[in-house]
Amino acid sequence: MKVLPAEGVAFDVTMPTVIIGAGAAGLTAALALRDAGQDVLVLERDPVPRGSTALSAGLIPAAGTRWQKAASIEDSADTFAADIMAKASNEPDAAMVSAIAGRIGGVLEWLADKHGLDFSVITDFRYPGHSACRMHGLPSRSGEELVNRLREAAEKAGADILCDAQVTALFAESDGKIRGLDFRRPDGSEERLGCEALILACNGYGGNPALVERYVPQLAKALYFGHAGNQGEALLWGEALGAATRHLSGHQGHGSVAHPIGILISWATMTEGGFQVNVEGRRFSDESHGYSEQAAKVLQQPDGIAWSVFDERIASIARQFEDFRQAEAAGVIVSAEDVAGLARVTKLPETALAETFAEVEALKREGATDDFGRAFASVPPLQPPYRAVRVTGALFHTQGGLVVNPQARVLRPDGTAFPNLFAAGGAACGVSGSRAEGYLSGNGLLTAVALGHMAGEAAAG
Ligand SMILES: Cc1cc2nc3c(=O)[nH]c(=O)nc-3n(C[C@H](O)[C@H](O)[C@H](O)COP(=O)(O)OP(=O)(O)OC[C@H]3O[C@@H](n4cnc5c(N)ncnc54)[C@H](O)[C@@H]3O)c2cc1C
Repeated sequence: MKVLPAEGVAFDVTMPTVIIGAGAAGLTAALALRDAGQDVLVLERDPVPRGSTALSAGLIPAAGTRWQKAASIEDSADTFAADIMAKASNEPDAAMVSAIAGRIGGVLEWLADKHGLDFSVITDFRYPGHSACRMHGLPSRSGEELVNRLREAAEKAGADILCDAQVTALFAESDGKIRGLDFRRPDGSEERLGCEALILACNGYGGNPALVERYVPQLAKALYFGHAGNQGEALLWGEALGAATRHLSGHQGHGSVAHPIGILISWATMTEGGFQVNVEGRRFSDESHGYSEQAAKVLQQPDGIAWSVFDERIASIARQFEDFRQAEAAGVIVSAEDVAGLARVTKLPETALAETFAEVEALKREGATDDFGRAFASVPPLQPPYRAVRVTGALFHTQGGLVVNPQARVLRPDGTAFPNLFAAGGAACGVSGSRAEGYLSGNGLLTAVALGHMAGEAAAG
């Protein structure tokens, strides 16, 4: 991953804008450019655009949308921004958070109205830290559907998407202006292309073990659940160019990945009244905090394993997610009519599990707060049949990256912008601060789609 001097280099073909990466960020940027009448080429290293976007649940938080209004949900961009800042302990740049929270609702409506993406808002549960129901998703609630619909829309709008094209080097002038790039084809051949503007939409460094070891050492040995092709090139190119970087230790983990099959289990299993126990049948945390910080807590348990325990009512909520349905079809969600039966199917110690059940249900009846800090007021009791699934903690994606302004322009440490370089999604510094607990559900696609739109609009001039 190199940045080479552009002086003296000839480019036979120059595109107005090139985007590296065809995930949610790159495809949204491409749509914004096409709407502005600009030619755009998206270079994607994989044979088919997927990225981490395809692996996600495809849920995008947005405030003040018409779907929320139709469901009588009161919300505003300011409330949303306040939630983001609170979850991240006020670490992110407040102006960026405000710009992103203010932008996303309109972008989702534009994607729906102009480009046919059939969003709706989830109304039957709320993710930790969100003060309103504001998660929007496509009918299947899957990232696969999201990336496929975005790709189809981008192609229909006239964006060129070249797959099997891994960008290996950038060419920059001494003032940081990007003049072009090299990309590698599957047969090993290299091609050279000029560009007038470049949007980095190639996500973060979760797929690069050396960078994870350096910046997120607590998850260095954890399962990486994101897209393997996200090798941190945006960060490495940005560093070579002298760009400002921030919050490189920030990340999204997840404390609920079915193990060993590797299927994401919705956190609704916890927020709706479930709990996690370790292999000794004991709880070890406040599960209501958030799934991101739960990754390290689960990994600290014996064998790095926990069991998520819930009931059929909660399963019926989680069943709206494709992942959960797949986990059920694969038989990894076990079921029992009573606690003794649950101990048998999970092989958890019966006495300890029964004690934990009794403690949790007593806390709910009393509306009390436990020693971990979880408040059980108004949390519904679990009713048989009970359900459980064996899970582990995983790294989903990194949240630090290149510092950008509200036009998604990459900045230098002195705050000045590079002439024609933009970053969106996981390539840019997100809005989650420097720690796992700073990740508010949906921050990933929020910054992919909102910054992607800002980058496309700004690159179009
Ligand atoms: C299991 C899972 C569940 C998630 N669920 C949610 C959720 O419900 N809501 C949410 O907000 N977030 C979620 N996330 C996070 C979300 O998926 C990401 O934040 C988001 O997809 C990032 O989008 P992106 O466009 O920046 O990156 P990606 O979608 O990863 O796209 C980057 C693309 O760049 C390509 N690329 C990389 N390097 C190069 C190169 N050198 N040359 C050419 N192409 C390159 C990659 O192949 C990839 O296709 C989840 C993540 C995971 C792993």
